[in-house]
Amino acid sequence: MNIDIISVGTELLLGDIVNTNAQYLSKELSALGINVYRQMTVGDNMDRLLKAFEYSFKDADIILTTGGLGPTTDDITKEGAAKYFGQDLVLHEPSWKIIEEMCSKFSGGKDKIPANNKKQAMFPVEAKVIPNSKGTAPGAIFEKDGKKIIVMPGPPREMKAMFRECVLPYLIDHTDHLFKSRYIRLFGIGESALELKILDILNEQTNPTVALYAKEGEVLIRLTARAKDDEECERLLDEKFCEINDRCSDYIYLVGDDTISSTQTELDRVVADLLLRKDLSLAVAESCTGGMVTSSLIDHSGISRCLLEGCVTYSNQAKVKRLGVSQDTLDKYGAVSEQTAIEMARGVATSLGADIGVSTTGIAGPDGGSEEKPVGLVYIGIYVKGKTYAIKRIFTGDRARIRRRATNEALNQVRK
Ligand code: ATP
Ligand code: MG
Repeated sequence: MNIDIISVGTELLLGDIVNTNAQYLSKELSALGINVYRQMTVGDNMDRLLKAFEYSFKDADIILTTGGLGPTTDDITKEGAAKYFGQDLVLHEPSWKIIEEMCSKFSGGKDKIPANNKKQAMFPVEAKVIPNSKGTAPGAIFEKDGKKIIVMPGPPREMKAMFRECVLPYLIDHTDHLFKSRYIRLFGIGESALELKILDILNEQTNPTVALYAKEGEVLIRLTARAKDDEECERLLDEKFCEINDRCSDYIYLVGDDTISSTQTELDRVVADLLLRKDLSLAVAESCTGGMVTSSLIDHSGISRCLLEGCVTYSNQAKVKRLGVSQDTLDKYGAVSEQTAIEMARGVATSLGADIGVSTTGIAGPDGGSEEKPVGLVYIGIYVKGKTYAIKRIFTGDRARIRRRATNEALNQVRK
């Protein structure tokens, strides 16, 4: 099944508004493994809308439109769909009743309902009218000779509700297969390195489909399986996951459904869960991340059981006085060094008897870099039950990005 999305509205073409509707629909459909063939945007113009329908149906089975269902004369999407299929618009009494009630409620029964509102209740008898739970304009499914145009309102709040409540169930009902997705989150590997590792899997993908998304220092893999039933979907997903896990297990930190597909990292949640589950205590000493590691863990309720302390020790004095880093180490290797990172982690952990200590020290820039210690250089120190080590990273980007990346790397080291 191929779907085209046509966004209707001159203000979209003028750049007055951002086309979030098309993005939302594409994301929802692709999560289900339904193929979005293309997106188009047309102005409020009948001739161009009909041409767009014509063009779309060369490849698409279904066109989803948003916008142009309002009561004014520039709203022409429904009229366009009816014209395209050669169907006449007549008053749909149940819709008109609902619109009347809504308008009267809105004005407290005082005002007369504007005559042009009737336009919103006009549909061909052949169409299936879809209710709008958030506004006055109903949507509709137009159909002729196996081609379908599904029209939805422009306001995102109304469109999303209509899509979720009626259109999505309709689309799922009209595919003879079930779709199921699984998401895999990876940290510590770039998109292109990952692509090389699983190139054959990507090239040979059919079912499940395999898609990669790069997200701020992480990569998200989406597997979408298509099958007759849930069990078969799960089997296909398990099989493909094992294949990927065999090659990438070092980097995989979370596997789940679409609840883990957000752009934000899930590392903090994974670390918080892990500490709580294993009943381990943690102390944090932060320099360049300035409290971000601690703060991201405190986002998770219940963490007070495991998180003992977070120190922001930004100056050398604080590193010495609060954490017991030796002045010799600072003089000899500098604040941004493997040795200092290790002493920071050991110091913060042992002063409170924590199972794990983690530290960050680095050069977030834009100033302060040198040839030997460039901007972006970050050391993460780790103390785990008496053993210590540090890892070195050189991150690119501006100050905020370097600090975010350092935070995530520190969380990743705790996870390990
Ligand atoms: P109305 O009854 O409000 O006229 P409509 O269905 O006719 O609704 P439009 O007139 O096309 O829809 O758009 C109404 C408003 O909805 C726009 O001003 C804009 O704020 C928002 N909107 C429309 N299309 C989109 C889109 N593709 N992405 C994001 N917002 C949109
Ligand atoms: Mg309108």
